[in-house]
Amino acid sequence: MVFRALPSNPAMVRVSGTLALRQCRLRAHLVGLCVAFSGSASQALAEPPAAPSVAPAGGADLDPSNDEVVSPPDPIEGCEARLKEAGVEFVRAELPVKPAHGKLPTCGVEQALVYKRGPLGIRYNAAPLVSCRLALGLARAERILDEEARRVLGQSVVRIEQGGTYNCRKMARFKLVSEHSYANAIDLLSVTLKNGQRVSVLSNFGKTSEEPTRREARFLRAVAHRLYDEGVFSVVLTPFFDSLHRDHFHFDQARYRVDGTRPAT
Ligand SMILES: [Zn+2]
Repeated sequence: MVFRALPSNPAMVRVSGTLALRQCRLRAHLVGLCVAFSGSASQALAEPPAAPSVAPAGGADLDPSNDEVVSPPDPIEGCEARLKEAGVEFVRAELPVKPAHGKLPTCGVEQALVYKRGPLGIRYNAAPLVSCRLALGLARAERILDEEARRVLGQSVVRIEQGGTYNCRKMARFKLVSEHSYANAIDLLSVTLKNGQRVSVLSNFGKTSEEPTRREARFLRAVAHRLYDEGVFSVVLTPFFDSLHRDHFHFDQARYRVDGTRPAT
């Protein structure tokens, strides 16, 4: 797989096969203890189901050399064309980048949009205001949500309940700027299946200390694993990460990676 290099974003330069991936749990990242590894490179990349005619930019940032950079995401060349090709209906939005002042960090993003509807027509409780980079991830995430719901629960997904995207703030626990400040993150609370059943992180994820026995918990965990392992999002946080995420999944497209989908090791 060869990704087209875009001058504005060297992180998009990818080489087939031998990616040395850096897994950096956020706690370790913050104290400079990132651990490089290459053991699961084969898991980390996957082509979207229908290969688009443009480079599949917009997924997780796998470049370890820019992990320390926390700033608004780089624009993606031809982003709107990519979104249309991915079957996303959207409208442009304005979220100009504003430099930090007072207690507020730098906020905003160059390419903002309101995500009206994805490739499968899944409804949202509120149309997400997101960066283009995140929107491309959402389109892939919808397919994975639906595939896993059909496989594990025998139902398709008709609705996603999201808990917020753009929010100019620092992280709740860490003195880092949240990707929510760039509309480059989204929180997922629940999905509703075609038969009307609502599957929520709060009620259905199950205890993190136990292997899940209920189908709904297996569904939620399988989704989280695929979204991280297939490089749909850079960061995937679940109740495994901390108690702040007991009731939602957090997805973002930071330049560093965090796998918050498994027990801490
Ligand atoms: Zn979040």
